[in-house]
Amino acid sequence: TDTTIQKPKWIRVKLPTGKNYRELRTLVDKYKLNTICQSGSCPNMGECWGEGTATFMILGNICTRSCGFCGVKTGKPLDVNWDEPEKVARSIKLMKIKHAVLTSVDRDDLKDMGSILWAETVHAVRRISPGTTMETLIPDFQGITKHIDRLIEVHPEVISHNMETVKRLTREVRIQAKYERSLEVLSYLKEAGQKRTKTGLMLGLGEENAEVFQTIEDIRNANVDVITIGQYLQPTKKHLPVKKFVTPEEFNEFGDFARSLGFRHVESSPLVRSSYHAEKHIH
Ligand code: SF4
Ligand code: SF4
Repeated sequence: TDTTIQKPKWIRVKLPTGKNYRELRTLVDKYKLNTICQSGSCPNMGECWGEGTATFMILGNICTRSCGFCGVKTGKPLDVNWDEPEKVARSIKLMKIKHAVLTSVDRDDLKDMGSILWAETVHAVRRISPGTTMETLIPDFQGITKHIDRLIEVHPEVISHNMETVKRLTREVRIQAKYERSLEVLSYLKEAGQKRTKTGLMLGLGEENAEVFQTIEDIRNANVDVITIGQYLQPTKKHLPVKKFVTPEEFNEFGDFARSLGFRHVESSPLVRSSYHAEKHIH
């Protein structure tokens, strides 16, 4: 049976335009730079690039995990490339990125789970592009605090870790992850002195609205500062299907609820991605 449901009118991909976007596009093509914005064909590229924000992935492009919503390839990753921090930092400088979102595949195969290269990347960006602020969107590092500490010690403006979905669906959506463990990572960040923390949720995977409210509350109880809530879109037919297109009105209700709990910043609407308007989340 075909379970594909029709995209509603509010899920419209905005065609990227604008001078800044075009200039960046030329650079990215010329130097073969890697951004998630392009490889994930993100609908917000025109807007983000126009504002000087982009998302970069480190630690290669093969992940040891296999989340059902994610377009990244699963398998045995290549060896760590210690030139990568410098390469990413040079891309950021070349693209004149004001606010960089850094993220990575999960490296459960490595003893340090990639945390050393993570810290080196933040250092490299500070050195090569000192005016750029950063959000580091980190994996759960299996909840091991000495790996998380390496990130806190290099002081990115924001550290984020995405919950992605409600408790009941975590096993299906993020196969190797755990709801409670991700919440613990978020509360640990704050306890250990990280100034700004952030998380993201995707809706439309089969969750009930009551579960969304509960998740928002759990996240606030982990002292998270910023929350982004957006619609899940299926990257390919092999990925988890979209069960529902959550209406803009529902997104507003979730957003209002989050604001009432005291988050510093809330983004809740269909096309929101965890890095959307990321530059506003540092204050
Ligand atoms: Fe890139 Fe994120 Fe903006 Fe999409 S929302 S264009 S992935 S920075
Ligand atoms: Fe994708 Fe991250 Fe899951 Fe890996 S851990 S499959 S990169 S969402």
